[in-house]
Amino acid sequence: MKFRIKILPFLILISLVSVFGYQIYSGFNFYKEQEARLEQDVMIAMKNADFREIYWRIDLIRLEAAVNRKSSSSEIKIDIPRLEDAIDIQNYFLKDLHQSVRQLKKPDFKVYCNLLQTELIDKGIMLETFTELIDIRDGRTIESVPSDISGVERSHYKQYTFPFDVDGIYAYRLNIKQPELFILKKMSGILTASFCLVILVVLSYVYLYKTILRQKTLDEIKSDFVNNMTHELKTPVSVAYAANDALLNYGMMNEPEKRVQYLQIMKQQLSHLTSLIEQILTMSVEERKNLKLNSEKINLSGLFESLKEQYLLSATKNVRIEVDVVPFDLTIESDLIHFRNVIGNLIENSIKYSGENVSIDLSAKISDGKISISVKDNGIGIPSHALSRIFDRFYRVSTGNIHDVKGYGLGLYYVKTIVGKMGGKITVKSTEGKGTEFIITYEN
Ligand code: ADP
Repeated sequence: MKFRIKILPFLILISLVSVFGYQIYSGFNFYKEQEARLEQDVMIAMKNADFREIYWRIDLIRLEAAVNRKSSSSEIKIDIPRLEDAIDIQNYFLKDLHQSVRQLKKPDFKVYCNLLQTELIDKGIMLETFTELIDIRDGRTIESVPSDISGVERSHYKQYTFPFDVDGIYAYRLNIKQPELFILKKMSGILTASFCLVILVVLSYVYLYKTILRQKTLDEIKSDFVNNMTHELKTPVSVAYAANDALLNYGMMNEPEKRVQYLQIMKQQLSHLTSLIEQILTMSVEERKNLKLNSEKINLSGLFESLKEQYLLSATKNVRIEVDVVPFDLTIESDLIHFRNVIGNLIENSIKYSGENVSIDLSAKISDGKISISVKDNGIGIPSHALSRIFDRFYRVSTGNIHDVKGYGLGLYYVKTIVGKMGGKITVKSTEGKGTEFIITYEN
């Protein structure tokens, strides 16, 4: 298990890098595809515009011929294929057509540029451009639209060249400003989706890793707990047995002083046993999320007094507990065992997280139909940054050099779970170095 958990971060890292790499790879491929597509679209647009320009010239020739030979019946008839059909065959015939028509009428570059813009807009390519008529042999610009292009920064433009005449002398050249931005914009949907996917995968992995670590901590704590507990349970039982034996078998019954002493020892051990059982209960709440609580009337004065006695008896420090319940016969509907554990846990913490002289005020009162129960101590207090976390599972304030107090960070989690299940609320107020007060409130 340990080995597996150790290599887990590496596996996660490797798979994250793979996911990330794959996203970049497919994004790059997609970009290349879009770039090729743009080029194809532009070339088709340039060809179409060229074809239309020739068609325009032919129309013009036809019109001029008609005007010239108004009386004559023999009209020039040039059968022009429709644009759609022409797209297929134009590669073969366009240049020839150019040559033939050129003899009758020279290409009109401005008309070509207008037609090209319409074609580009048709294809959804609406970018900053300029178009040139160039001499392929020396790359010289013969004409351009707009006519003044001296100020343009050519490095920002991508060139698409379309040679259109048979002799390979002239070509149209379309210059598109930063087509990469246009492609990236087109890809923005897919890029956002990829980005979200990567974030989602990262978050899931982090969550997974945290859960596994938590589970591991829980496992370790549990086995720790079971080991310690088995050991600790034996001690009070055997001490109580020994005291009992002494009373029964060695005639201690007749010596009142010894009798009281042995009975006290037995009581102490039983009280220790009770607190160990409380811890086991705490742990089992942690295990059983849907635990069922019984409900019975509990007299708070009686319960507080009995807890006071239990903790005074088992305390190794100088503890003073003040009980104050108003009205004296105040009762609460709750599960006796768990409620006792809740208050017991708070008292135990007050003793654990205090100096040698511990003073605890255990009080309960009712006002506006609300019962509030308070456990207040003069202990070390809780730093304000930790206040919001002390009810979390396994959370422990690092005790620094004041104490080396044993604990599992489960007590307050248990307290909050039980109080919540009983329909109550728990809040905490604390000042470091002065003390802490836990207040539980119930609507009666
Ligand atoms: P544990 O006592 O086993 O560490 P708890 O859940 O009972 O776990 O308490 C969580 C943390 O809250 C403790 O580690 C301690 O730092 C702090 N704490 C709880 N009660 C008090 C208190 N009365 N005074 C000061 N600190 C307290």
